[in-house]
Amino acid sequence: MLITDFCCSAYSNVKTMYTKRLNDFVWLIDLKPRGFENLSASYVIKGKKIAIVETGPRLTVENLLAGLKETGIKRKEVDYVVVTHIHIDHAGGAGTLLPHLPNACLLVHERGVRHLVSPEKLWISSLQVLGHIAEMYGEFQPVPKERVITTKEGMVIDLGEGVGLKVLETPGHASHELSFYEKNNQGVFPGDAAGIYLNKFNVIIPTTPPPFHLEMALSSLNRLIKMKPRWLYYSHFGPADDAIKKLETYAARLTLWGEIILEGMKDAEDFETICERISEKDPLTPEMEDYIKNHLILSRGIVKPNVQGFMEHFQKIYGIEYF
Ligand SMILES: [Zn+2]
Repeated sequence: MLITDFCCSAYSNVKTMYTKRLNDFVWLIDLKPRGFENLSASYVIKGKKIAIVETGPRLTVENLLAGLKETGIKRKEVDYVVVTHIHIDHAGGAGTLLPHLPNACLLVHERGVRHLVSPEKLWISSLQVLGHIAEMYGEFQPVPKERVITTKEGMVIDLGEGVGLKVLETPGHASHELSFYEKNNQGVFPGDAAGIYLNKFNVIIPTTPPPFHLEMALSSLNRLIKMKPRWLYYSHFGPADDAIKKLETYAARLTLWGEIILEGMKDAEDFETICERISEKDPLTPEMEDYIKNHLILSRGIVKPNVQGFMEHFQKIYGIEYF
């Protein structure tokens, strides 16, 4: 289905390249890094005030601004930019974006602030983890400290007209991961706390690279389930209904992977063997395997970096060495 097919009737005569309007308050912007559709999303939320959720990487700031233009919202009308966490694909564009939004503040978890203000270390760790993908996403530019607001658990970003985002701390994927709850549509913006949703296959795949914390991730998922959301607005990628079931399915998959990996480590199996066990016990369909293999970014490995995240975590908490 074409992106333009999703636009509401009021906008259906406008040809959009990046946006689709999801409901009265929310637009999706497909950031299309290097032209890849359905991979990285930003969202625009409109009450009386306006917020953007996720900047995406520096590479796609131009696309985000083009998407914003398609919504009819002016740059100077944006009040808030909020990021779920500071990884390069979610917040890498913050320092580049803010000069284009003269009235916007950036909201970020307190543990992320100094890294976005002085991003040198964050850039080095992005290069270490992602290599040439980080180069492609583009180097962080510093965010001016005076434009940052530190989030607090439970705070509500009130956009007026009954629209607002409630800040929920949902660590696990990152220790400073946030989700945002939007009560009008009972929707949650989970960042990477709820995995990667491959909408083409209606499947949720793990995103658990190091440093990953399994128990925190599971209790964060539990917390989101208790909010009884109807919608998930995935950063990777897009809106999905049946939110509670998707969160439960993801929690079950993380639990299964945890059991397989811990068992393997206790049996002193090596990394490669444990990766094979995951593929045996939680196989991808051949169609999905093909899709991932041919995908510039996803092909960096769905299984290996994620298994690594579990193993480093178990090593830390149980002291089990691995090979
Ligand atoms: Zn991500």
